[in-house]
Amino acid sequence: MSQFLEQFMILRHYFSAQYLANKFPNREALEAWQDKKVKAHLRKVLQQSDFYKHYYQGCQLSDWQSFPIIDKNLMMAHFDTLNTVKITREEAFKMALTAEETRNFKPMVGHITVGLSSGTSGHRGLFLVSREERLKWAGHALRALPGSIFKGHRIAFFLRANSNLYTSVGSRRIQFQFFDLFKPVDEHIIRLNEYQPTVLVAPPSMLGFIGQAMNAGQLTLKLEKIISVAEVLEPFDRLWLENTYGQNIHQVYQCTEGFLGSTCQYGTLHLNEDLLVVQKEYLNKSQRKFTPIITDFSRLAQPIIRYQLNDVLTERQESCPCGSIFTALEFVDGRCDDLFYLPSTQSSKIIPIFPDAIRKAILQVPVSIHDYQILQLNLNTFSVGLAGKVSLDEEQSFRASLTAVCEQHQCIPPVIQFRPYQQPEVGAKKRRLQRLFAIEAAV
Ligand SMILES: [Zn+2]
Repeated sequence: MSQFLEQFMILRHYFSAQYLANKFPNREALEAWQDKKVKAHLRKVLQQSDFYKHYYQGCQLSDWQSFPIIDKNLMMAHFDTLNTVKITREEAFKMALTAEETRNFKPMVGHITVGLSSGTSGHRGLFLVSREERLKWAGHALRALPGSIFKGHRIAFFLRANSNLYTSVGSRRIQFQFFDLFKPVDEHIIRLNEYQPTVLVAPPSMLGFIGQAMNAGQLTLKLEKIISVAEVLEPFDRLWLENTYGQNIHQVYQCTEGFLGSTCQYGTLHLNEDLLVVQKEYLNKSQRKFTPIITDFSRLAQPIIRYQLNDVLTERQESCPCGSIFTALEFVDGRCDDLFYLPSTQSSKIIPIFPDAIRKAILQVPVSIHDYQILQLNLNTFSVGLAGKVSLDEEQSFRASLTAVCEQHQCIPPVIQFRPYQQPEVGAKKRRLQRLFAIEAAV
């Protein structure tokens, strides 16, 4: 396909995405449209994917909403027969790893893009995206640009690994430069000063470094839009970043499993329900917390059907002033694997403690803590590193506010071991809250 034709296809997807976003008068109309889309998609998937054909044997298409779920382990275990483009897991891994090592990011088999998610080794996910899907993705991603796509944009995109998925959005008017997160920050500052991007896309930790350089007068940028990706944007950081940059921090919520959501002009994160169905499995309904089960009716190369994500999301209570009928989120809490659990004071049960409760405990300490990392070592012990000069009184104050959180949740407060705070390494994913033991092993 010529580059001109690719650009044309991207534009077509861009306009069709604009049209779809305003097409549905209410949720019922959206859900009826999604239902049709999923059924049509499933017919193709069941013909082309041996895994799904076998997995859904005996199931009725009309019951797709209650089909057995899949998760990352199942998807990776059956990678070879699940995908419809006949690429083996071994082949895809080899190709993606070579691309990462050589930092030459053009891994493709025929017209299929191969990518690898970041994550701890052994838990890395592979993704396969066909040309048609890549162009569709680009069309949807362009919606995140401020103003018209026909005026010039210069995008600076900070990632752990580039992909031709991302470079697809580049054109004569839209420049795209990849910034390698593993390179030193000083190098980025020099390049940013020269490039003068209008749109900055980076994980919040990198937005923090760039913000510090701007505050120190080492960098001057005129940014029209800032988009946070790849890590959870915590309220703690969001506030600091919005003050530093003097504008809203937008978000794109994306992972190996799909393009899940993006913020509207009001900065509210909406799910991309024109690309996928999101079913909610509530962890706590009164707190509006759920894990999503997604069915992506736009991806056939690697079909994602009733796939349970490992994320915890909080639904927004009020509707968004933008009027979108797509589900609005309060925030992405983090990964299910990182939920903390403490023993109940009322029964032999263990109680999940959501990250926002722990974050609140930190915010209640009267002196400003620059940063922190909290590890749950076992059901009874937290290891806490607080950045900056933290006195014994402040440590005591954190202990007291955490105890108050535990009382609210009716659970036994953990023993807290304080340790020196360690700055994460350059390029590493920032995770402030981490549980270091498997919950099945603890109960
Ligand atoms: Zn909105």
